[in-house]
Amino acid sequence: MRSFLFRAACLCFGLALAPFAGAADPLKALIVDGQNNHDWKATTPILKSTLEKTGLFKVDVATTGPRDTTGFRPKFSDYAVVVSNYNGKAWPEETRADFVNFVKNGGGLVVVHAANNSFPEWPEYNEMIGLGGWGGRNEKNGPYIRFTEGKVVRDSTKGNGGSHGAQHEFVLQTADAEHPIMKGLPKAWRHTTDELYDRLRGPAQNFTLLAYANSAKATGGTGLNEPILFTIDYGKGRVFHTTMGHGTVSMKCVGFQTTLNRGTEWAATGKVTQPVPEEFPGAEKALPTR
Ligand code: ZN
Repeated sequence: MRSFLFRAACLCFGLALAPFAGAADPLKALIVDGQNNHDWKATTPILKSTLEKTGLFKVDVATTGPRDTTGFRPKFSDYAVVVSNYNGKAWPEETRADFVNFVKNGGGLVVVHAANNSFPEWPEYNEMIGLGGWGGRNEKNGPYIRFTEGKVVRDSTKGNGGSHGAQHEFVLQTADAEHPIMKGLPKAWRHTTDELYDRLRGPAQNFTLLAYANSAKATGGTGLNEPILFTIDYGKGRVFHTTMGHGTVSMKCVGFQTTLNRGTEWAATGKVTQPVPEEFPGAEKALPTR
């Protein structure tokens, strides 16, 4: 009996000492915003609180001027990961150079939705994000990426990069169940109302497709399986790219938030330590939001 009590006491003591994962030493994350054809003033706080609620991250925000980027030079190297909610004018040359060095040397990058519209003229950025849309992107920027018959297919057909149909709920399908970001997630799960980006193009080198969704013709899409979640290795850096997250409604979806959190941790460290929440959606389940 004494031995049992002793063990029980040790167990409780051990649990009390064990901090919530990462709480003692949170990963430093920097959200960049300030210009976007989307409502960044409403969505950045959701990104920030979503990340911070995990207990894994301490999040700062760096905001450009509303119309130009003069003087915008965050110290990227102070952070483990940069999360881009930015779609606007070119950053100053020295800021671009800092950013390339940051990712090349092992910094993490997370690309959210319209951040992949940004900087069509910046080759290194397009290599980092793998695929992008709009801004005059076309076959010169790289192929379309499709998922056909269980394989990633590079399609070099001529045409513009970037479009989407009407916003709707759609089902994501896992393409790489073993990737740390995807491990433990259902094979198929429903995402809340959002834009389903299609026809993205880019270099897509060192590219790993994590999840795709069929862009239904009925909602104005391509009828093809379009990449939704993917990663890119750029130098020593890891990039997680989610094309979801058009607005506040889309960002409150547990599926969006869970993959954002897992992708950000992976981009920062190469590992994912957080559990999949019990309320994570399935293909048929009603959509939980937070
Ligand atoms: Zn959008």
